[in-house]
Amino acid sequence: MKVFDLHCDTAGECYNEKISLFSNDLHLSIERAAKYDEYTQLFAVWIPDKLRGDDAVEYFNNVADNFYKELEAHKEYVSVYGSGSETPVKALLTVEGGSACGGTIEGLKALYKRGVRVITLTWNAQNEIASGAFAEGGLSDFGKEFVRTAEELGVVLDVSHLNRQSFFEFAEFARKPFIASHSNADIVNNDYGRKRNLTKEQIDVIKNAKGLVGLNYYTEFIEDDEARGIDALCRQIDYFCEQGYEDIIALGSDYDGCRINPVLHGVEKLEGVYKELLSRGYSNDLLEKIFWKNAESFFNKMI
Ligand SMILES: [Zn+2]
Repeated sequence: MKVFDLHCDTAGECYNEKISLFSNDLHLSIERAAKYDEYTQLFAVWIPDKLRGDDAVEYFNNVADNFYKELEAHKEYVSVYGSGSETPVKALLTVEGGSACGGTIEGLKALYKRGVRVITLTWNAQNEIASGAFAEGGLSDFGKEFVRTAEELGVVLDVSHLNRQSFFEFAEFARKPFIASHSNADIVNNDYGRKRNLTKEQIDVIKNAKGLVGLNYYTEFIEDDEARGIDALCRQIDYFCEQGYEDIIALGSDYDGCRINPVLHGVEKLEGVYKELLSRGYSNDLLEKIFWKNAESFFNKMI
């Protein structure tokens, strides 16, 4: 079985808590992911909104140093995605919160040099680039320069966490395909979910841009009184399929960044989830698209 997941916060969690990325009790470990035939994970360095400027750059570098040290120490199991190594786990460093560039274009180029190939523009607050789901405002002038330079470098931009104004201003300005690495469809009846999930209009924009939407397992983004656990995930998959979005859905677990229902709690559960979805009548063809194929074909073209 193959898996391709667009977002987790495990790298930061391991750095902050001094936990091994290889073997741990978190949602994700390299050791448990390596049980799959092929497992590709985008590992985000989440930049808390209290960090800006040099503090954000320093934090990013600390987490990245620790991440690459772990990869080197376990290189028979894990290698950098796209490096050509034949390991069961492929890992790609990403950034959640563009403040990791320290508010400069030189800083963005430095992120690229450290292997970052996906950047989520903001977290929930406003930063130098744009405004997140809990802030007012849109894409800044610096944000436009950031977007254009990232596109020229070959960094995929990620609209998860943007507020609606920033989303549409970014989408209008963008020239390359972009993704929402960990966002769901706005069909959940709670306030937090509504702020972070995507409207049909937004998903249409991502589809037209030939992008991807990674399904986030965060309880509050998929569950409400109508559906929980696997039922809640199925409700999302059903919606995406009914609306003709089956070629843009992927996985964006948000492992180690959020609360997750026990049935989806941890990378080792994915095989059971896949079997459960098959037993509920979803085709192998559709599930392969969601679990890895859509993401793999996107990243083969983009980086
Ligand atoms: Zn997030």
